Amino acid sequence: MSLNEFQIIRQYFQSASTTDDVLLGIGDDAAIIQPPPGHRMVVSADTLVESVHFPKDAPPDLVARRALRVNLSDMAAMAAQPRWFTLALTLPETNSGWLEAFSKGLLEDAEAFGCCLVGGDTTKGPLNIGIQIMGTVADEDQALTRSGAQSGDLLLVSGNLGDAAGALEYLDQSGTDQDVDQDALHLCNRYWLPESRIAFAQKAAHLINAACDISDGLLADVGHICTASGLSVQVRADKLPLSIALTNVCGSDASRLAMTGGDDYELCMAVPPENLAAIEQIAAELEVPVTEVGVFKKDETGVRCLDKNGETIEFESAGYTHF
Ligand code: ADP
Ligand code: MG
Repeated sequence: MSLNEFQIIRQYFQSASTTDDVLLGIGDDAAIIQPPPGHRMVVSADTLVESVHFPKDAPPDLVARRALRVNLSDMAAMAAQPRWFTLALTLPETNSGWLEAFSKGLLEDAEAFGCCLVGGDTTKGPLNIGIQIMGTVADEDQALTRSGAQSGDLLLVSGNLGDAAGALEYLDQSGTDQDVDQDALHLCNRYWLPESRIAFAQKAAHLINAACDISDGLLADVGHICTASGLSVQVRADKLPLSIALTNVCGSDASRLAMTGGDDYELCMAVPPENLAAIEQIAAELEVPVTEVGVFKKDETGVRCLDKNGETIEFESAGYTHF
């Protein structure tokens, strides 16, 4: 028996647990939420389209987790606390096995990251997962933005780069469980389950001048900070944090993937040199690897990638673009 949209909502999403600040959740024309007093709302949306953002016939629980985590990454980049989200779900058919796994993965991750599903929309069409996430920052705390970088700031990145792009280019990432090879498994996990940098971003925000998450590729995304801040940046290819798995699977292509490959959802940050030690301390406490990979400059050279001898390295593209 195929379910209509009201049955889908009731059966798979209405059970989502909510917090006291959700005055009215799923089921009415709209949700009513009560932000904590003295806080500002931070709002963002990200859509995942089948065959564009993830492979066809991918495991539904992983699609759901990735869809939420991609949105959480924007909250981390703003140093915001994620609290609520809506789900605009477009499905080609009503497959109860798929919906069961999708909703379980989504609601488990929502619980783990402390944000709750408060509404959405359910329609028929090519598979498409649209999430709008809402978070908060306290009035007295500045949200992190792309525009505050200063000349002389160091470019720092969290985690390793290139793993997700390595999974996409070198592996059949349609599932993780059939991959017995540990390196392949590591890369696929990094693609499907981006790590949350929220706690780190919140704790380190006062030490960071500007930040952006890496969704399209380091060179492309650091370019957004440069544009917003009116600066250039030199990125050192020999300093990039590469996982052993990436090097094992992709060999000498690893550094290109780390520079221009998207989907890592790590943070890139502009940090005054005098704050480096304090950031490294927080990173160590929270077990978030942080690496210095470049420096911002006040000139017209744009985003430049250099090798260890200071020679410019050119790439065909800085990162992913849709159009
Ligand atoms: P309307 O027609 O008034 O827009 P809908 O019938 O689309 O209302 O939705 C009914 C309720 O279910 C609303 O509260 C809506 O926010 C919620 N909802 C619809 N689809 C989803 C979904 N995929 N996940 C969570 N909540 C949903
Ligand atoms: Mg509707």
